Amino acid sequence: LAQLFRPLDLLGMVYRTIRQGVIDMEAMYKLIDTPAEISDVPDAPMLQPRGGEVRFEHVRFGYDPDREILHDVSFTVPAGKTLAIVGPSGAGKSTIARTLFRFYDIQAGRILIDGQDIARVTQASLRAAIGIVPQDMVLFNDTVGYNIGYGRADASQAEIEQAARAASIHDFIMRLPQGYDTRVGERGLKLSGGEKQRVAIARTLLKDPPVLVLDEATSALDSRTETEIQTVLRDISRKRTTLVVAHRLSTVVDADEIIVLDQGRIVERGRHSDLVQADGLYAVMWTRQASERTEGGADPDILDY
Ligand code: ADP
Ligand code: MG
Repeated sequence: LAQLFRPLDLLGMVYRTIRQGVIDMEAMYKLIDTPAEISDVPDAPMLQPRGGEVRFEHVRFGYDPDREILHDVSFTVPAGKTLAIVGPSGAGKSTIARTLFRFYDIQAGRILIDGQDIARVTQASLRAAIGIVPQDMVLFNDTVGYNIGYGRADASQAEIEQAARAASIHDFIMRLPQGYDTRVGERGLKLSGGEKQRVAIARTLLKDPPVLVLDEATSALDSRTETEIQTVLRDISRKRTTLVVAHRLSTVVDADEIIVLDQGRIVERGRHSDLVQADGLYAVMWTRQASERTEGGADPDILDY
């Protein structure tokens, strides 16, 4: 009988892996229209991630081929480093993340992870290599343990708890009526934005991907939660290649490189201090934010105006 069940388990795992990819992306981007069919090339090999270097080479892309959104975008994020992407709303920041997942095929140029063209490897292996912490995660109507364990189908309870601890949510879960077995989501206990984000972080920790994509929330959480989450995120991005759509000053100040995107073009790049000195678009955003802060405004959400 056990033999009979094994293929079903496998099928379940495959199904869950596919579903997870879809849910992650939906959660992150709330896409309205259905993207064009993306298919693996015949006999596509699996991506063999090493350190997780991410490279965009002269990438051109438009959702509609007649309206190009990304114009000749090139950058390299060395393995383990952090790239912050900033710029006005509509500049193409999320589009960069979507093309990295190969949610769409680009029209020209190449996107490489550890030297391998992402369009030539299997989509499953590509997506397994990338973890996402979306700004607004959709939880399954299931237990909080299940929602975390979803990052890896074979995770043990001990591993789930370890990930939850690292994401600073274990203590909170232990105080819930049924601990890890407490049902959450629309039909269960509703979690706050910060709690959901920590569930997303725990899930990503379990998945342990070499490449991390963070989409920082534009609206600030309460400041204690915010600080806690920032600390955890800084920790988990330390040894992973990280692309962060940044809205927080602390994030850009720490980034190894910042690219300033405007209407689909990289208009400035460098580290924070270089860009402030360059006196361009970044300096304008920075000055505006600084003045908002001294006027006693809420926490910075300046870099996406
Ligand atoms: P950002 O994240 O910097 O705010 P986006 O990458 O979301 O910007 O969007 C860049 C441009 O692409 C915008 O002009 C937006 O209208 C357009 N766009 C985004 N998503 C789609 C889509 N699914 N279909 C068509 N156009 C899109
Ligand atoms: Mg965006």
